[in-house]
Amino acid sequence: MNDTRALRARIVATALAMNAQGINRGKSGNVSARIDDGFLITPSALPYEETKPRDIVALDGTGNATGGRKPSSEWRFHRDIYAARADVAAIVHAHSPFATTLACLERPIPAFHYMVAVAGGGDIRCAPYATFGTQTLSDHAVAALDGRRACLLAHHGMIAVGASLGSALALAVEVETLAEMYWRSIVVGEPTLLSDDEMARVVARFESYGKP
Ligand SMILES: [Zn+2]
Repeated sequence: MNDTRALRARIVATALAMNAQGINRGKSGNVSARIDDGFLITPSALPYEETKPRDIVALDGTGNATGGRKPSSEWRFHRDIYAARADVAAIVHAHSPFATTLACLERPIPAFHYMVAVAGGGDIRCAPYATFGTQTLSDHAVAALDGRRACLLAHHGMIAVGASLGSALALAVEVETLAEMYWRSIVVGEPTLLSDDEMARVVARFESYGKP
């Protein structure tokens, strides 16, 4: 625990920041970070304001937890994203209002704005619905994240991943901002979309900056 204390504290800080920045309310989301032999994740059923670094739960690569607390019920998609994606070191999952509104309509976020490319491609997909905590939901999430750093989860919320807790949280905030702009656009009309060529150009430009 001692060698992960700083990372545990950063997970708590990221969970608190998620709510403070308005992308999550109450206890619904969760935050995790990769460690050598698995990952650390926020616990189940404990308000972030009351969560201490020692409450963060360690799971190994198969999902076995150690310590006194139960992991977030969504630990399966965290485990499977880390297994599928060597580029991911942190995951933020939120029920942010605008992204979740689109997810409830089963609407992905298309190339209506060039910043959609910040998630790694020409759109931000919406994974099909499955019951929370299930392997089926995890499978859908991993597929929707293929070649991407964010996705929506139908009738549920969103996931943002990154090489650090800071980059995953920043991407979650960006996805929520894009979801709000897209929602406003479709309330007024139907926005024209940027071409695949243009989105590929923007993705390449973001990648060449290292970080968008
Ligand atoms: Zn959730």
